[in-house]
Amino acid sequence: MMQHNLLINNEWRAAASSKTMDVVNPATEEVIARVALADRVDLDGAVKAARAALDGPWGQLSARERGRLVRKLGERLLERVDEIARLETLHNGKPIMESRNIEIPAAAECFEYYGGWSDKVMGETIPVKGNYLTYTLREPVGVVAAIVPWNFPLLLASWKVAPALACGNTVILKPASQTPLTALALGEVALEIGLPPGVLNVLTGSGSQLGQSIVEHPGIDKIAFTGDTSTGKGIMRGAADTLKKITLELGGKSPNIVLADADIDAAIRGATMGIFYGKGEVCAAGSRLLVETSIKDEFIDKLAARAKKMTAGDPMDPKTRFGALSSRKQMDTVLRYIESGKQEGATLVAGGARTDIGTGKGYFVQPTVFADVRPDMTIAREEIFGPVLAAIEFADIDEAITRANDTQYGLAAGIWTRDIKKAHYVARKLQAGTVWINTYNVYDTAAPFGGYKQSGFGREMSAHALEHYTQIKSVWVDMNF
Ligand code: NDP
Repeated sequence: MMQHNLLINNEWRAAASSKTMDVVNPATEEVIARVALADRVDLDGAVKAARAALDGPWGQLSARERGRLVRKLGERLLERVDEIARLETLHNGKPIMESRNIEIPAAAECFEYYGGWSDKVMGETIPVKGNYLTYTLREPVGVVAAIVPWNFPLLLASWKVAPALACGNTVILKPASQTPLTALALGEVALEIGLPPGVLNVLTGSGSQLGQSIVEHPGIDKIAFTGDTSTGKGIMRGAADTLKKITLELGGKSPNIVLADADIDAAIRGATMGIFYGKGEVCAAGSRLLVETSIKDEFIDKLAARAKKMTAGDPMDPKTRFGALSSRKQMDTVLRYIESGKQEGATLVAGGARTDIGTGKGYFVQPTVFADVRPDMTIAREEIFGPVLAAIEFADIDEAITRANDTQYGLAAGIWTRDIKKAHYVARKLQAGTVWINTYNVYDTAAPFGGYKQSGFGREMSAHALEHYTQIKSVWVDMNF
């Protein structure tokens, strides 16, 4: 069985307490690895190393040289893509096709993209009143903690680590307890490409202890977090005491709106992929399907037929398109929501139960579709974070917009129509950080991603993320002789 220590100051160290935790393969329920359980003492060591690196060789590197190292991280990830994708699937349960062909390559690309930014992050000269030369410097924020969830373990880590390093910060990466293996692999890659000591530290440990200590630690300057909205609120409260800078990418209940004039087959593919990619454990999942009344019956029939054809498979099989939920806890949560949908009177048209792949093991849940969902039902309001779609009808475009925005969240939204005016009209009216027109779930490192409302704040990816990993210093020079 794999055993892993903590990466602190470019050394693999056991936790000071010697404690460990098990990592489980959700498709087989077997323990596949044991990782160190870090606490405040280990965190102190990592913060010390990260601060020393800021003042040491890392801080003295030229921006171009720093960018070269960040790009090398991406190149090396790609060289090891088969092995790292395998780890991602083993601890998360997602199909190997998703890890191997989409997510690990996207993580590598993120490092490539931000490596290119390092020597292009610039200040400005400002025409002020009086005889002064006034200019700004964009400087790193300092020690950045990246706290990431278990749904896209390496990809969501790279959205934080890559811009942080590119801007000259040092990083403490805390992966989710369920999925620590690819963050540790990133630590190995950092050693392989010669990242100086203390620049990237990887601490595995629990959210309630290590995570909480990160929030409280006075030596950490910024937290970049992705995860549950309630955890995000706790981090925001906790960060107040040390006034840490924070960016939060939180939950969603994203609407996917289908107008009667849409290309129905394309919309069905988009609705299916929008909720079932990544087993629905996707913050931007299109979990509320809003369908125009005049096409509702035909649409739901076709959608249910398609969902029924999607069967769970062995995540390690390249042909599998639907894997295991990430943990027993998550499976139980999803099954509870399915039960609440039934109890509250929604019509179950596909799925609705636990399933297996012939082994009698694993946390598999059928792709599930509910029709006749009312907007006040629990499955229409709360983030389920699993393969459960709630279909709600609407009579006209304004009702679609009202229903779409009737949520505390605002992460993403989709709109399907052949009418270009309606598409852009709806896009402007939706309260969401990303709007997809006639597509769903597409991302690119060059395009910003983040939330409106209680889906958080701060943008990840794109040039906008650089703002969160730099701070601006104004310098005034008296030019009077
Ligand atoms: P969390 O938000 O609790 O976990 C995300 C990360 O935060 C993990 O690394 C976790 O560590 C850490 N963490 C947990 N508690 C704290 C804390 N008090 N201080 C600092 N860090 C902390 O998500 P869960 O895994 O508990 O999932 C619960 C629900 O959250 C899911 O059912 C889903 O609905 C939602 N979720 C949403 C995500 C999104 O992207 N929108 C992503 C993940 C979950 P550890 O793993 O050790 O607990």
